[in-house]
Amino acid sequence: MQQVLIHLIKLQELDSQLKQLESLKGDLPNQVSRLSEKLLDSENGLKEDEEKLKVYQKERAMAEMEIKALEGNQTKYQTQLFNVKTNREYDAVTQEIENVKVEIGKKESRLLELMDAEEETKSTIKTVQEEIEKLRKQFDEKSTELKKRLANTEKDEAALHDQREKVLRKLEKRIVATYDRIRKAKNGFAVVPVIRNACGGCFKTLPPQRIFEIRQMNRLFLCEVCGRILVWDEKKSEGLE
Ligand SMILES: [Zn+2]
Repeated sequence: MQQVLIHLIKLQELDSQLKQLESLKGDLPNQVSRLSEKLLDSENGLKEDEEKLKVYQKERAMAEMEIKALEGNQTKYQTQLFNVKTNREYDAVTQEIENVKVEIGKKESRLLELMDAEEETKSTIKTVQEEIEKLRKQFDEKSTELKKRLANTEKDEAALHDQREKVLRKLEKRIVATYDRIRKAKNGFAVVPVIRNACGGCFKTLPPQRIFEIRQMNRLFLCEVCGRILVWDEKKSEGLE
């Protein structure tokens, strides 16, 4: 058990150093990932708008063609009008002309709708493009800054992770799981030394008998108040001699 506790003390030391390195990066990693998400959202929005614009343009081209065809019909009927011989024929052709006019009117108002929709979509696209450009610039700035900071800490971090792996291999999975659970729940500190006869995590005073037992390092003792693993760390602990 003694060896296990010594490994746990080492693991805590390494994790504390890693946490410190992490805090040097500040909020930058979050900012970079938030910007990248926003950028992706905007780019997807842009794609959708561009698709929408294509659909409108296609329908408009179609409507223009149909109007042209209808106008052709109208001209044809108007020519026919000169050649009618009976009133009935005249009424029939006139009716056809009326029908075509109504049809043209419908198509033309759809055409206007489509032109409006196109204008609106184009203006949305322009806004989104500007937004994307702005986001891209921010993203580039922040990620360059992050890369710079990472370059400074990268080596140290890699070395710490390396050592951490080595320590982990010496510990039982069950113990590591307990350690990780406490560490996550307790702001990164799972293993705390006894300091001035108290828990180094929550400062709850410990009974002398408990301190004696902890000093033996024969068992895993959890603080009854904060639940952290209590150890006697020769470098940091003070208490009953
Ligand atoms: Zn405690």
